Order: sequence, then C-alpha cells, then structure tokens
Amino acid sequence: MDKQQHLTYENHSRYFADCRYIYPVVSRRSQGLSLGINLNLNNACNWRCVYCQVEGLVRGNPDPVDRDVLVAELDFMLNWIVNGDFIQQFAPIGLQRFNDICLAGNGEPTLSPDFNFVCDVIAKLRAKYNLQEVKTVLITNGSQIHNPQVQEGLKTLALLNGEIWFKVDRVSKTDILAVNQVALSSDSISKRLKIAAGLITTYIQSCWFSNNGNNPSQSELDDFIQFISAHQEFIAGVLLYSTARQPALAEGGNITQVSLEFLQQLNQRILDLGIYSRYHV
Ligand code: SF4
Repeated sequence: MDKQQHLTYENHSRYFADCRYIYPVVSRRSQGLSLGINLNLNNACNWRCVYCQVEGLVRGNPDPVDRDVLVAELDFMLNWIVNGDFIQQFAPIGLQRFNDICLAGNGEPTLSPDFNFVCDVIAKLRAKYNLQEVKTVLITNGSQIHNPQVQEGLKTLALLNGEIWFKVDRVSKTDILAVNQVALSSDSISKRLKIAAGLITTYIQSCWFSNNGNNPSQSELDDFIQFISAHQEFIAGVLLYSTARQPALAEGGNITQVSLEFLQQLNQRILDLGIYSRYHV
C-alpha cells in the first residue's frame, strides 16, 4: 500500500505503516474506516474457498503471534486514529469515520492460538481509547465455534459492541465441497451457528458468484433460503456479497461476479421472510 495515498475501496493491503498484524481499510460495507487485525501471517486456513482472495493460501493453522508487536501496533494505530490525523490524512471525504475493529485475516482468525489473547487486548485498548461507538467484528467460517476457548473469546467480543459474520455460502454437502472445499454437513453448521448466536450477535455472511459464466443453480438458492428461514430466530440478518476481485486460487480461475440483479433478487427473498438482509458486490 502506498502510504501517501488515501485509502480506497480497492486498497485492501494487509500492510500499512510497517505494521505486521494491523491494516486499515476503507470498507464498502462499513462506509468508513475499518481497522483490520490479521492473525494469519502465514496465509493458513482450514478451508479453501474457491473464491478466496488470499495470495499463497495454504491449508493449516496460523503461527502464534508476537504478542508484544501486535499490542504495540494496535495501540499505535488506535492512538493515531483517535488522537492524531490518520483519518483526515488517509480516508476520503465522506468516509471519515471510524466504524470498526475487525478480526479478519489471511485465513480463519479463530484458528489462532492467540485468539482469546487478542480479544482481551481489543477490550483493553477499546477502554483506553474510549471506543464505545466503534464496533468489533469477527469474520469467521464458524468451524471452531465448538471450541470452548473460542467461545470465551466470543463472550469477550460480545461485550465490545461485537458481532460476528458467520460464513454460510452453500448448504448441501455437495455444494459446500464445491465452494468451500471442505467436507461439512448443514447439521454441523447449524449446531455451531446456534452456539455462536447464543453468545454474540450473529450475521450470516454469504458469497455468491458465477462459475464458467453460469449463475448458482436454483437448488443452491432454494437450499440457502430454506436454511436461512430455519435459523431466523438465531440470526441478526444476512450479508450477501459477490467477488469484488479476481480469486487468488487456481480453482477460482473461472469465477466472476454475479450481477447486481442476482443479488437484489436473493436479497429480496430473504427480506420477504422478514429477515434483515443487505448486499454488495
Ligand atoms: S474461510 Fe476465508 S480465508 Fe479461509 S479459504 Fe475461505 S475465504 Fe479464504
């Protein structure tokens, strides 16, 4: 990222001002500044979603973080944002607001052995900088929610104006295998989703895309709507999106954005159920 330039929608570099773990982005979803925390410096994830945009993604777990460095970086950036000129210097006019601190790295954040430690650090620094209005967001594939230690982290985040975005892209085993490249049943997703929802405000986040020029099938859409409907009482809403950039994986070579109309129609089906939903490409 060019440090001299304003942040833009397209500029999602994980690195800023020589930080290793912390990266600011102006996010389309937040209409403001989001301060990201990347716990997966080695690009390791337990899933391999075909649309993933992590360059050099590998299967595996993240290494432990250098705790001193992470705390120093987060403290430095928060001080610059809250007490300094960071927003005026780098955020475009109209987007000069601090929306959230977001755990979303180059892999699944809850795989990190330091996930709870980082949740505690966020709590301390939010208190130090008096950030009641700023959200704390965890973007997760939900695969580790059964882990009691991860649940402790979610409880901490819940107290920090927190919410999670729980990935549910497809519902049938076959479609999950094709999209997320993991063997998973909708029952196991459902179990973990319900655990999460009992601990923290939970949104379902879902990625839709064309493959070889073909939109997702009717059965993919119908299964998804059925799943959403069955979990209405547990979720705060649904966040739909499509691939803004070219996927990084070879498997994603034939993936392109779905149309705005496609997302609008899917969004409307969810709204018709009486469930909050929004979308962006
Ligand atoms: S869960 Fe996220 S980081 Fe992991 S492969 Fe899927 S999109 Fe990439």
